[in-house]
Amino acid sequence: YRAKNSRSGRHVYASEDHSPGEERLRMLQELRAALAEDELLLHYQPKVDVITGEAKGVEALVRWNHPRHGLLAPGSFLLLAEEGGLMNALNDRVLTLALDQAVIWHSQGRSMTVAANLSASSLIDAELPDRIAAMIQERGLAESALMVEITEDFMMPDRVRARDILSGLQARGIRVAIDDFGTGYSSLAYLRDLPINELKLDRSFIVSMIGDPRGAALVSSTINLAHSLGLTVVAEGVEDGDALDQLGRYGCDQAQGFHILRPVPAAELNDWFTASRLDSGLPSA
Ligand code: C2E
Ligand code: MG
Ligand code: MG
Ligand code: MG
Repeated sequence: YRAKNSRSGRHVYASEDHSPGEERLRMLQELRAALAEDELLLHYQPKVDVITGEAKGVEALVRWNHPRHGLLAPGSFLLLAEEGGLMNALNDRVLTLALDQAVIWHSQGRSMTVAANLSASSLIDAELPDRIAAMIQERGLAESALMVEITEDFMMPDRVRARDILSGLQARGIRVAIDDFGTGYSSLAYLRDLPINELKLDRSFIVSMIGDPRGAALVSSTINLAHSLGLTVVAEGVEDGDALDQLGRYGCDQAQGFHILRPVPAAELNDWFTASRLDSGLPSA
C-alpha cells in the first residue's frame, strides 16, 4: 500500500508545474504502480463472421484507469512501457486479466477465444511459450482459449528468435495472428517467414478499399493470398455496412469494428451477446 499512499500524496502537484521530461518520469512511476495495483483493465471487441455475424472470438485491448487523466488508450502509454522496461510486466498483467475473463466466460457456457496483443519486442523471451501455456493450464482452460496478436508498432528485434517463439506457441496449441497487416511495418516476408494462423488487415487498408478500385484490388488479392497460405483473414476497423458487404464479396472471414461493436468492458459485451441472441431468435442461454 506504500505506492498508493505516495501516489495520492502526489495529487497536490498540478501537471503544469512539471516539464515534459518530469511529467514523463512521473507517468512512468505511475505506470509501474498501476501494474502492481488494479489500474489496468481490458476492453473487449468481438471478431465476427463476415457472413453470419456470429462472434468467433474477442480481442482484449488494454486500458489504464489513470488517477488524474481518466481512462487512457494504449496509444498514450505503450511506448512509455516499452522504453521504461515494463513491457513484460504489462504482458503478464494483460494475459492474467484476459485468461481470468476467459474462465468466467467458459463457466457461463461461452467458450470463446480471447486474443491478446503482444508487441513484437516481447518476442525475445524464449520462456514465453511455456509461461503462457502454464497460465492457461493453471486455469483449466484449453489452449484454444487464447490466441496472440503480434503487433508491429515496434521493430522486431530478432526475427529468428521471434519465429521460434511463435512456433513454440503454436506447438502448444496457441494460435498466432499478425496484426495491422498492410501498414508500413508488416510485409509479405512475414507471411513467408513467420508461423501464423491469422492475418489481420489494418484499418487503413480497409479504408483505402472503399470507393477506390486500386485499394479494393489490393484488399481482395491479399485475402486470396492469405487463403492460399491457409490463413484466416480478419478485417479491422469496419465502420459501416457497405464495407462489411464488400469484404463479404471478397471472401474475408471475419470482421471487427465500430459498425459491429466498439471495444467495451466485459459486462457490456455480455449484454451485446444476449441482445444479438434475441435478435436472431435464439434462446438467450
Ligand atoms: P490493434 O490491436 O490493431 O487494435 C485495434 C485498434 O483499433 C483498437 O485501438 C480499437 O479500439 C480500434 N478500433 C476498433 N474498431 C475500430 C473502428 O471501427 N474504427 C476505428 N477508428 N478504430 C477501431 P486501441 O484499443 O486504442 O489499441 C491501439 C493499439 O494498441 C492496438 O491496435 C494494439 O496494437 C495496441 N494494444 C492494445 N492493447 C494492447 C495490449 O494489451 N498489449 C500490447 N502490447 N498492445 C496493445
Ligand atoms: Mg490487435
Ligand atoms: Mg490491428
Ligand atoms: Mg492497430
